[in-house]
Amino acid sequence: MPAPGQRVAVIGGGIAGLTAALAVSRAAPAGTHLTVLEASSELGGKLHTSDFAGLPVEEGAEAFLVRRPEALTLARDVGLGSDLVGPATLAAWVWSRGRLRPLPPRTVLGVPTDVRTLDGVVSPRGRARALADLLLPRTQLGTDVAVGRYVAARLGPEIVDRLVDPLLGGVYAGRAADLSMAVAVPDLMRAVRRDRSLLRAARAAHRPPQNGPVFQTVAGGLARLVAAVAEASSAEVRTNAVVRELRRTPSGWRLVVGSAAAPEVVLVDGVVLAVPAAPAARLLAPDVPRAAAELAAVDYASVAVVTLAYPSAAPVAGSGLLVPAVEGRLVKAVTFASAKWPHLAADSGLHILRCSIGRHGETADLQRDDPELARAAAEEVASLTGQRGWPVATRVTRWGGGLPQYAVGHLDRVARIRAAAALQPRLAVAGAAYDGIGIPACIASGERAGQQVAAALSAAQSA
Ligand SMILES: Cc1cc2nc3c(=O)[nH]c(=O)nc-3n(C[C@H](O)[C@H](O)[C@H](O)COP(=O)(O)OP(=O)(O)OC[C@H]3O[C@@H](n4cnc5c(N)ncnc54)[C@H](O)[C@@H]3O)c2cc1C
Repeated sequence: MPAPGQRVAVIGGGIAGLTAALAVSRAAPAGTHLTVLEASSELGGKLHTSDFAGLPVEEGAEAFLVRRPEALTLARDVGLGSDLVGPATLAAWVWSRGRLRPLPPRTVLGVPTDVRTLDGVVSPRGRARALADLLLPRTQLGTDVAVGRYVAARLGPEIVDRLVDPLLGGVYAGRAADLSMAVAVPDLMRAVRRDRSLLRAARAAHRPPQNGPVFQTVAGGLARLVAAVAEASSAEVRTNAVVRELRRTPSGWRLVVGSAAAPEVVLVDGVVLAVPAAPAARLLAPDVPRAAAELAAVDYASVAVVTLAYPSAAPVAGSGLLVPAVEGRLVKAVTFASAKWPHLAADSGLHILRCSIGRHGETADLQRDDPELARAAAEEVASLTGQRGWPVATRVTRWGGGLPQYAVGHLDRVARIRAAAALQPRLAVAGAAYDGIGIPACIASGERAGQQVAAALSAAQSA
């Protein structure tokens, strides 16, 4: 049983781990000593802002959805409420059938609510096929189904290829054919259980634009959120502290931290494990093998973000564009960052663009070296947007194994992982591998894990 002055380790200093640390600091018994152990040299994980052409440009995530409250609430909670900014424009494009076309409005992650909005993006035949949804008998769903399979069965493959796949690819870097509908579009999953027509279900699931922006970010970059959450947690933060082993002891957990040459043993009463699935599987393998086996089965996609600075604005207005995989291009999305975010509109007149590259299972493009990848991205920007001239600065950020892929049945898998972890004393898991890839979902999982470990510590102390 833990004695007063208990110790908690949060393994992983991404946004999930830092939120967990904040939750532990608020809910654990007084005197609890809290340490965040982060393998890399900086906190934040996929939230990483750095200077590019004199501006604080994101290397990973750029913004969070405000429809879910967690990120907004956390940012306000740690004192950044007045520094939140929304995009200056949301108008977006999709490169389809030979040219840029306005991204159809009012879709649910690409699933249309009105086929009249699809003109040009899909062929007249594809549009007619989508309308067959209104007449087709019910499509079997089961407990979960691949988004692409279900949408293709209802609306035809063209809607998947030209709308659903690029929108899902922009979020997950995954292919619609493989992604779990229950996790990726839960509102739609609920709606199609009620209505056999997907078009009608999409209409029911679609939430009309609210007052205010759909996305927000922190002026100056999401690294400010990372720093503010870490500070608010008052945790001892240790960077360059890779956790190599996690073992049960009679009273808690024994961690081995640091290099093989100079290992350090850290004894704690409670642990929040907030690392991606592969390291989580390795750490849990000896004592929680059932959770480890489930985690080892979660696949990841590798992606790269190529950031380019141009002396003149993109000739296309709006926040950015998507490119469907069927178009056979290198770049899957371009964000016109300086047009989208007011704090990235430089006095110097430079315009920043961010290009996303990499889809699940397709790694050949990412094998190119940095200069070659930047050159190829710039060539595509020129051909997609008509951008003239060559970028005056380039940056390539690689996220090897950066994005978890939620296969069909993922929610059941997560339930089995949590059930196995719950049998262990004062252990909880958090992060993008579990309930959602977006920042709000990661924050929610961190909060939940931190509260669980804190409650277990309190219970153990008063037992
Ligand atoms: C390119 C890109 C763009 C994205 N854009 C958006 C966006 O705009 N909006 C959005 O909502 N989401 C976006 N996401 C997703 C979102 O950023 C992530 O899902 C989220 O930040 C993950 O947070 P996390 O804390 O779970 O994991 P991570 O950020 O991966 O943090 C885990 C941490 O654990 C550390 N670690 C790993 N192993 C160990 C170990 N053995 N010991 C100690 N530490 C360890 C890692 O170094 C890392 O810092 C994007 C992701 C990527 C890759």
